Parts: sequence; structure tokens; C-alpha cells
Amino acid sequence: MARLYESRKRILVTGGAGFLGSHLTDRLIGQGHEVICADNLFTGSKRNVEHLHNHPRFEFLRHDVCNPLKLEVDEIYNLACPASPVHYQYNPVLTTKTSVMGAMNMLGLAKRLRCRIFQASTSEVYGDPEVHPQREDYWGHVNPIGTRACYDEGKRCAETLFFDYHRQHGVEIKVARIFNTYGPRMHPKDGRVVSNFITQALNGEDLTIYGDGTQTRSFCYRDDLVEGFLRLMDSPPEVTGPVNLGNPGEFTMIELAEQVLKLTGSRSKVIHLPLPQDDPKQRRPDISLAKAKLGWEPKVPLAEGLKLTIEYFRTLA
Ligand code: NAD
Ligand code: UDP
Ligand code: UDP
Repeated sequence: MARLYESRKRILVTGGAGFLGSHLTDRLIGQGHEVICADNLFTGSKRNVEHLHNHPRFEFLRHDVCNPLKLEVDEIYNLACPASPVHYQYNPVLTTKTSVMGAMNMLGLAKRLRCRIFQASTSEVYGDPEVHPQREDYWGHVNPIGTRACYDEGKRCAETLFFDYHRQHGVEIKVARIFNTYGPRMHPKDGRVVSNFITQALNGEDLTIYGDGTQTRSFCYRDDLVEGFLRLMDSPPEVTGPVNLGNPGEFTMIELAEQVLKLTGSRSKVIHLPLPQDDPKQRRPDISLAKAKLGWEPKVPLAEGLKLTIEYFRTLA
């Protein structure tokens, strides 16, 4: 297609009305691109993209990625999928369908258009890891029949489809394995630990630690993560991933609760609730590959990112 503005791309973002998708959309619009956001609003919200309403380079399409999609774009970011355990376990069959059929349809689209496609994969492909920190060549430890499997196995199968479309059909793929990410526009009720603790602290409710709280996670601030997405998409064709994107700073849930209490000045107490099934005990990305191939590493420390997130949650009160 002859283009008036050669550097301006038309980009499809599935899941674009969600937490990460809406930030990615903001960055792409900021770079001068056109964005089509395809979302069925299952966990996302039009509010997340409300500020783009009437923007000449933004289009919202209410669409379920389980169905085929025919349009013309230069690049695809496939983010559509509920991400919080509470959301993805609400309708587990639909979660697997979304990951697998969504990947298949978007790959079919990328194959027809001969365009690059990015997949939002996850650290959950490592399951409850026996190798620490996790490198991309670790195959993982996932319970295929547990309550988290709809998400973990769905994302693993999506990775398989990405690599088979790449090998079989020459589709240019970019697979990111995203570790826990937080920041403004997280849904306050989405059930993830950062949003739960902040909401509870601001409302003077008890902070709910599941299990003994010694399990660890590594939390990445959303702006750092989205920068990683853009760098991966713009990397040379041979960089297919999977590439870990996350912040290697590792914290126990007890430490996270302490930080949230300190930064909010809350007098809430901490209580312990049962640990959900198959909850991974530890998680930390090895990001050597992202550093080497993308020149990427996170810049925002947890305390700073939490402050920004707390400010956002205060505005919702
Ligand atoms: P989110 O729930 O805020 O966003 C997901 C978006 O996908 C929502 O807008 C939702 O409405 C949409 N969606 C869900 N099912 C759909 C379907 N069938 N068709 C069309 N749209 C659909 O979650 P998020 O945190 O922004 O996550 C975005 C992506 O990143 C997901 O694929 C998730 O698995 C991945 N990821 C996120 C994290 C994290 O910590 N936030 C970590 C690892 C991977
Ligand atoms: N697909 C789509 N948009 C397109 C091209 C394909 O949604 O522009 C869907 C298509 O309906 C199919 C999937 O992507 O369900 C895989 O397409 P592919 O061409 O790989 O397989 P086939 O259509 O031959 O089964
Ligand atoms: N968690 C917790 N209290 C909460 C919510 C979650 O202690 O209110 C724990 C949860 O059991 C897990 C960790 O925090 O060990 C991260 O949970 P989250 O749902 O945010 O992400 P994921 O389990 O997918 O990493």
C-alpha cells in the first residue's frame, strides 16, 4: 500500500482496553501511529481508553478474539486474555479458548497480511518453578489439570502456535514472557496482590496475605514493561523470543504488605488466608537475554512504582 506517512503504522492491539493494552495504546498513539483496539471488554473497560475517544488515529472495535477478524494492519500486539487468577478462573474454559483460539486467529491474520505479531505470554509458563531465577530455556513445572492450568497451559499452547506459524508459515513473531506487572489503571478489584493490598490499606481493611507470605514475586512497573514491548517489536527479525520481561527485584508477600502499609501510612493489620492451589512459591526473571538483545532493563524501583500506583488508587476513592 502506498503510504502518505511512511513511518506511521496501523497497529492492532487486542486487549487494548485492559491495564497493559491501554498503556501500550497510549505509547503507540504518542509515537504517531494509528491504533485499532480490539477488545470484548471482559476485564477491560472503555474508561481505560476514554481519553482517546474522538482521537483521529484511534479506533475501538468491540470484538472477541475467539472469532476470526479481517482487517488490514501493519503490526499486531496480541494481549487479549484475562490476567488475574480471580478473572481467569471465573470461566476457565473461556480462558483457554481466548488464549488458544485468539492466538490462532491473530496468527492467521498475521500470516495473510505478512505482518509482525507480538504475543503477551507470561512467567506462568514456568509454573511453580524448580529453577531460580527463571531463564527462557527452562521448560517449566506446570500442573496441567489444576485450577491455574486454563491460563498457564493456554499460554503455553499459544507459544507453541506462535513458533509453529513461524517455522511452518514464516510469520515474524515476538514472544514476551511477562512477569507480574503493576501500576495505575490496574482494576482495584482485579484480585491481584498489589491492587488488593493498596485498596485494603487505603480503606483501613486488613491486608490479606495468602499462606504464610514467604512466597516471592518480582514486580515490574507498567511503563518499564511497555518500553520492553516496543523494543521487542522493533528488534531484528531473528529475535523471536521468548524473552523474559520483568523486574528482577524479588520480594516476599510479607515485604510487599510492609511496603504498602509504610507508603500509605495505613494502620491496617495483616491477616493470613489459605494459599490458593498451585500458587508458585518463588518467581524472579533472569533478564540477561532482554538486556543483551533489546538493551532493556527496568528503571522504576518497587517503592517508587508503588507510590505512583497508590496516588492513582487514591484518585478513585
Ligand atoms: P487485563 O485483564 O487488564 O487486560 C486484558 C484485556 O483483554 C481486557 O481488556 C479484556 O477485556 C480483554 N479480553 C479478554 N478476553 C478477550 C477476548 N476473548 N477477546 C477480546 N478481548 C479480550 O490484563 P493485563 O494485565 O492488561 O494483561 C494483558 C496481557 O498481558 C494478558 O494477555 C496477560 O495474560 C498478559 N500478562 C499480564 C501480566 C501482568 O502482570 N499484568 C503478567 C503476565 C502476562
Ligand atoms: N483468520 C482471521 N483473519 C484473517 C485470516 C485468518 O481471523 O485475516 C483466522 C481464520 O479464520 C482461521 C485462523 O485465523 O480460523 C487461522 O488461519 P489460517 O489461515 O492459518 O488457517 P485456516 O484458515 O487455513 O484454517
Ligand atoms: N496474594 C496474597 N494476597 C492477595 C492476593 C494475592 O497474598 O490478596 C498472593 C498470591 O497468593 C500469590 C501472590 O500474592 O502468591 C501474587 O498473586 P497475584 O494474584 O497478584 O499474581 P500471580 O499469582 O499470578 O503471580
